[in-house]
Amino acid sequence: MSDQRLRELERRFKETGEPAAWGAWLRARVRQGSLDAAAVPLAARIEAGALARERVQLAGYLGDPLALALDEHDTIALAVCLGDDAAVRVALDDYYDGDVEGWLVGLAHWGGEPWVRAAVACAIQAREASRANEDADDPYSDVGHYEEMTDRLLEGVLRWLDCPCAQHGQDALRDAQRYEYVSRHSVSLAYLACQVAWAFSSDSAWPDAYALELLERVGAREAVATIRAALIPWALGTT
Ligand SMILES: [Zn+2]
Repeated sequence: MSDQRLRELERRFKETGEPAAWGAWLRARVRQGSLDAAAVPLAARIEAGALARERVQLAGYLGDPLALALDEHDTIALAVCLGDDAAVRVALDDYYDGDVEGWLVGLAHWGGEPWVRAAVACAIQAREASRANEDADDPYSDVGHYEEMTDRLLEGVLRWLDCPCAQHGQDALRDAQRYEYVSRHSVSLAYLACQVAWAFSSDSAWPDAYALELLERVGAREAVATIRAALIPWALGTT
C-alpha cells in the first residue's frame, strides 16, 4: 500500500462521504498499520450501512479513541463548531482545562436520546452507589424506598426511549412530577431524565441548566466516566 494510494482513498472518502469509500480507506489503513485491527468489524458495519457516521462522531466526541481514529480529526472539528473547544479537551481526557458542562451541553447536537441516556446512566450509578453505602443491617434503611422511586421514574423514560414521541415524554414527566422535590440523587437524576425526554420531544427550548443540574449531583469526573461507559457501546452498537 503506497502512501499515494492511501491518500487517494482518503480523498475519495472526504469528497463523497460514502460509507463504501470510508470502509475502503479504513481497511487500507489497517493493512498499512496506521489503524488498529479492532477497526475492521466497525469498517464492515460502516460499509453495510449499519453504522452511521454521526454515531461514530458521537462516540469520538464521547472520547472513544478508536472512533476518533476512524473519523480522524472530524470529531474535533465538529466539537469546535459546536462552539466550545474546551469541551474537546474533555473528549481528549483533560478534565482540568476541559469544560465538562460545555461537553454535556454539546451532547445535545445528537438529539435527545444520548442526553436522556446520559441522565439515565447517572441515575443508575447514583442508585447503585447509595446501595453500596448503606448498612445492610440497618432496620431503618430507606434505600429500598428510594430505589423503587428511581425505578418507577426510569420506567417512563425507557418507554420514551422505545418510542420517543411527545406523548411518551408527557407521560414520563407527568408520572415523575410527584417526585419533583425528592432530593435523593438517584431520584432527581431520574427526574431530570424525564424532563429532558419531555423537552426534546415537545421541541421546547433546550435549557443549558440541565447540564449544570446533572453536575451538581454527580462530580465532573464521575459524570464523564459514567456517561462514556454507558454511551460509547450504545453509539457504536457494540453492546
Ligand atoms: Zn412514543
